[in-house]
Amino acid sequence: MINLLNSKSVILQIYAAIIIVSITSGCSVITSRNITSTATKYMISAANPLAAKAGAEILNIGGSAVDAAIAAQLVLTLVEPQSSGIGGGAFLMHYDAKTGKVESYDGREVAPRSAHPKMFLRDGKPLNFLDAATSGISVGVPGLLRMLELAHRDHGELPWNNLFNPAIKLAEEGFSISHRLAYLLSREKILRKTPSAKRYFYSSEGKNKPVGSLIKNAALAKTFRSVAAGGADAFYRGPIARGIVAAVVGSDPPGHMTLADIAAYRAVKRSPICTDYRKWQICGMGPPSSGGIAIAQIFGILENFEIEKIEPTSLMAIHLVGEASALAFADRNAYLADSDFIPVPVYSMIDKGYLKSRADLISLKKAGPKRAPGELPTLNYSADNTSKGLSTTHISVIDSEGNSVSMTSSIETTFGSRLMTGGFLLNNQLTDFSFQPVRANKPIANSVAPWKRPRSSMAPTLVLDHKGRLVMAIGSPGGSRIIGYVVKTLVAALDWKKDIQAAIDMPFFVNRNSVMELEKGTSLKLLEPGLKKLGHKVKFISRASGLHGIRIVTDGLRGGADKRREGVALGN
Ligand code: GLU
Repeated sequence: MINLLNSKSVILQIYAAIIIVSITSGCSVITSRNITSTATKYMISAANPLAAKAGAEILNIGGSAVDAAIAAQLVLTLVEPQSSGIGGGAFLMHYDAKTGKVESYDGREVAPRSAHPKMFLRDGKPLNFLDAATSGISVGVPGLLRMLELAHRDHGELPWNNLFNPAIKLAEEGFSISHRLAYLLSREKILRKTPSAKRYFYSSEGKNKPVGSLIKNAALAKTFRSVAAGGADAFYRGPIARGIVAAVVGSDPPGHMTLADIAAYRAVKRSPICTDYRKWQICGMGPPSSGGIAIAQIFGILENFEIEKIEPTSLMAIHLVGEASALAFADRNAYLADSDFIPVPVYSMIDKGYLKSRADLISLKKAGPKRAPGELPTLNYSADNTSKGLSTTHISVIDSEGNSVSMTSSIETTFGSRLMTGGFLLNNQLTDFSFQPVRANKPIANSVAPWKRPRSSMAPTLVLDHKGRLVMAIGSPGGSRIIGYVVKTLVAALDWKKDIQAAIDMPFFVNRNSVMELEKGTSLKLLEPGLKKLGHKVKFISRASGLHGIRIVTDGLRGGADKRREGVALGN
């Protein structure tokens, strides 16, 4: 254990906990509304108030955490179409209060049978990201509904079809376009090229609809009604599946998804990645997500320092978390991919001895070089450093029995592939694969293959105490920065004992094994000279995280939502 209190650098600490974000991603942040909630029975935190309300209503009538997450997710398909939906995929972590068991569900999109390692290359060169993302070749077979159905079979309390009622009502009666949706639609160029999307999202003259405009989605209501009655089968077979195939093969350039690809989709229950960290257990999603392992690695490295004794968001805190993160990203980029296809050395990667050896590479006095992946018993892979993402959504729920869901859900980039059918948008998740199958004569673990799932960074997280009782549920959107957003919130809440809302508010900082990214417009600006002196390359970024979390406190539940987006925590 390295005692940081003896380190001279601690003198450089600058306390900087107040967030002053006013503009993120060009979208103004609403700071005056009440987004935090305290409750004694149940709580949900989600990215849109209508979705949180739908989930809270389900919890109020005795629904389980899974029931509430399903109801909220269906509403998000409608009201936050830029981020997630039934045309995409998700990862769901579940805590069972009776048994203390943590389970993880994989609803990640799958590449169709026709997919091949060179499908994102033209004349040997990678396609332009947006060209690939907005064509049918980027669409993976959606996994969300199969996964929700699987989780509902295991943990649902209310009938499946009841969970569709709030979303059907809103789709038929209409909902008001939020600030964020209006803003993202106004800067969106490609969505208008899909005729059904143009008709739905824009006025008859093709103009932007102002904030607050009421829009109805009869096509989505119809889709919801058939899945409510027929289960996920109604989505994976029949007219809805035919609509998906038609949208994918009809795009330019066309994708090659078939009805057989859609019918073959299976959601999978996988072993969660749980690691001990001080007096807690942090549990996350394993491959094909890199989120759980990267977070376990960062905490396994941080455990070798007394981060809890360092001033929050001080120079040394940012330096250490950033250095641990750089080391984790080096491993992530090289080794993480779909473990059904690639031997991912999961247990070696989170082994405490291995992480101690990684921690030994960190100096308190200077920033490390660009990190190489650690020596691990695996094949020899080239790194896939790609990262994208401005969309995605996170839902945290705790029900009145104490069960919890932490679910991150995505259609990948903003408005996904922009292809629309049945009132919902299709994902472009296959662009999370490496476009290059080989680099420097070495294969890339995250290259494309038929039936393979692209590597994700989504990190739905559950924290337990040493007795196996739930402490916290948290997660965020943000592409590979998700890992950093979740880590800084966990450090703030666990090590620095911040309230959940304060932990979410705390400025973010992420080092993805290149530059130290600091949240623009925050007090982290004060740390720039010190970080540069330590040898860090510093960049200020104005992305919007979308952290939604719940913490169990002595007198009940505290929910927090991210001011950088428009979500809310609701409970009773
Ligand atoms: N597609 C990304 C992933 O699975 C998420 C994108 C985002 O967060 O915006 O890691």
